Amino acid sequence: MHLLKADLHIHTSEDPEDLICYSSTDLIDMARELGYEVLAITNHNSSAYSAYLRDYARERGIILIPGMEATIQGRHVLIYNMDFSTVSRSSIASLETLKRPDNLIVAAHPYFPSRVALRGLLKKHIQVFDAVELCHLYSRTVDFNRRARRVSKEYGLPMLGTSDAHQRRQLHTTYSLIEADPEPEAVIQAVKEGRVKIVSRPLSLADLVRIPTKMGWRNQVLNRFISSNGKMWTALEGPGGHGKKA
Ligand SMILES: [Zn+2]
Ligand SMILES: [Zn+2]
Repeated sequence: MHLLKADLHIHTSEDPEDLICYSSTDLIDMARELGYEVLAITNHNSSAYSAYLRDYARERGIILIPGMEATIQGRHVLIYNMDFSTVSRSSIASLETLKRPDNLIVAAHPYFPSRVALRGLLKKHIQVFDAVELCHLYSRTVDFNRRARRVSKEYGLPMLGTSDAHQRRQLHTTYSLIEADPEPEAVIQAVKEGRVKIVSRPLSLADLVRIPTKMGWRNQVLNRFISSNGKMWTALEGPGGHGKKA
């Protein structure tokens, strides 16, 4: 078995909700330079995965796992390798019926100071989740992952280190080494079994402030664009909101 260098939470310019300056193919090229072997593009309520991208990644030695950061009951949940059109956006509990050995459900940044963080809903629906995210956005003194670590220990849930990258500078700050054969299902099984080593370095306090500030600024630009081009975006706003750019 191999130790595969993986990042399973990354956004790209195909994301309908955040403004990102690199495309999925740009990401795969960057990840190849950094030695990644497994990636999942997890855009908001939208799947970027395609046979073209899967092959593009494979030709560069990277396994691409279909992924999405779904907003369910208003909270962010990372889901992988499932029929995203079957996911209800209104019930975290209903995810339990979709669980299979070859798919994966991860609690994204569960205790970050954001209204989209799961917080109490993680423990309430703990049986839904296969793993808890350790997100790159922390410093030595400010670390919103602490509570996630405690919950992971308390419930015996593996942790998965990711970048949640929206900007190039976020890549390669936190990632996971997953002990698995290089196949999507084997990687998913290994995460569930906790065969994951997290490689992570705290950000400087300056970066901890700079990264979300830049994201907020970019999204203001995006929101202005959306409000002046409302009709163009209506297709992205249905209650299901899945597969819009698939
Ligand atoms: Zn999120
Ligand atoms: Zn994200």
